[in-house]
Amino acid sequence: MNFYDSERIADLLTPMGYKKTDKPEESDLVILNTCHIREKASEKMYSDLGRLSKFKSNKVKSGSNLKIVVTGCVAQAEGKAIIRRNSDVDLVLGPQNYHKIPTLLTNSNKEKLHNYFPKESKFDFFPRTKTNELSAFVTIQEGCDKFCSFCVVPYTRGSEFSRTVNEIVFDIKHLSEQGVREVTLLGQNVSDYSGFYTVKGVVKKLNLSQLINEISEIKGIDRIRYITSHPADISMDLINEHKKNMKLMPYLHLPIQSGSDRILKKMNRGYTQKDYISIIDKIKDVRKDFAVTSDFIVGFPGETDNDFLDTLNLTEKVDFAASYSFKYSPRPGTPSAFLEDEVPEDVSHQRLQILQKKLDESQRKFNMSFIGQKLSVLFEKKGKKINQYVGRSQYLQPVHVNSDKSLIGKILDIKINKVESYSLHGETFE
Ligand code: SAH
Ligand code: SF4
Repeated sequence: MNFYDSERIADLLTPMGYKKTDKPEESDLVILNTCHIREKASEKMYSDLGRLSKFKSNKVKSGSNLKIVVTGCVAQAEGKAIIRRNSDVDLVLGPQNYHKIPTLLTNSNKEKLHNYFPKESKFDFFPRTKTNELSAFVTIQEGCDKFCSFCVVPYTRGSEFSRTVNEIVFDIKHLSEQGVREVTLLGQNVSDYSGFYTVKGVVKKLNLSQLINEISEIKGIDRIRYITSHPADISMDLINEHKKNMKLMPYLHLPIQSGSDRILKKMNRGYTQKDYISIIDKIKDVRKDFAVTSDFIVGFPGETDNDFLDTLNLTEKVDFAASYSFKYSPRPGTPSAFLEDEVPEDVSHQRLQILQKKLDESQRKFNMSFIGQKLSVLFEKKGKKINQYVGRSQYLQPVHVNSDKSLIGKILDIKINKVESYSLHGETFE
């Protein structure tokens, strides 16, 4: 979502005459769009700010200026501290305040911190996106009301908010007119989407599967994805959409976090390992060819060897196509940050290594199962080698193919003949 937000901020700045550059030392304005989900991400911001301060003082000495703006969830959570620790920062804006950037940059106002939740929606102020991408992100929902005990999102992004169907459809039509063929619907909690839809003056509410259904009517859009879902919100409606809607990719990112029911309860996740497996079974019942990916946290306070074994056992029961796994990071202000019974760093480290090895094996097994098989690939860009093109399969795997003719923008059946660490290689059938 930060990637998407950064693009929207760039859309706001383009009419003001700003152009992107990869040379921060020469630029007039640097925006750091930050992530607060784990401690490492926030630390990175402070070291980047130190570097930018030096560029700024050089520019000031030569008679010009460099404005430094911090946006994102660190800005929301630690805005005051950022301003206190680095006086070179000009503006600090939380995620719901981005639309104010143009005014704040042109007006000389003294208030640096803008981290409240305004009444108006920032989405009403973003200009229509210009893109030359084939696959685009579209935020449909933001914020979260789930309050998992380890997570900062409900505090930094705010409570759940769904954009209207009309707005989303309008955005996606505009993207498809520019050549976009695949959209990924974004939200911290997309599976809980509930947005107003006004047709000929009649207003109704649509859920995620109904929204997907509307989007699949848009000419030019061939592939639809959504991320991230919560296991407690996966409805039969959504599962059935995967059965009947062939534009909806057979892929679901469904974070489980832990395989231990005891830890899941302490995390306030609202489901058990059995519930999770039952969702996967239901999906695979309606669509055999399906990729499931997940997120895991190891070392949550009080996690015992037995709890961790439950997580390892789960990886034997579900064939994950890919996964992200993290060491628990206590976040200020979240309920679990107050829990004692911390897992020692070396134990968390070891558990992460063991889990990642298992998850890598699972990913490799999934990828290897396609050797000699056919995958449908949307080609998005050139590869690193001459005449090489790269795209994504329906299961989101990167696929490399050599071809004399450009494959960019095409969706082709590819025969897979090689698997390399995380990517696949294949050839066209022609
Ligand atoms: N809404 C999604 C996840 C959003 S955050 C969900 O419900 O799962 C993305 C991932 O970051 C999470 O799935 C979790 O695995 C990880 N994460 C969040 N807070 C964390 C923390 N305090 N320590 C370590 N990992 C964390
Ligand atoms: Fe965070 Fe996801 Fe839990 Fe919401 S559902 S609190 S975003 S982990």
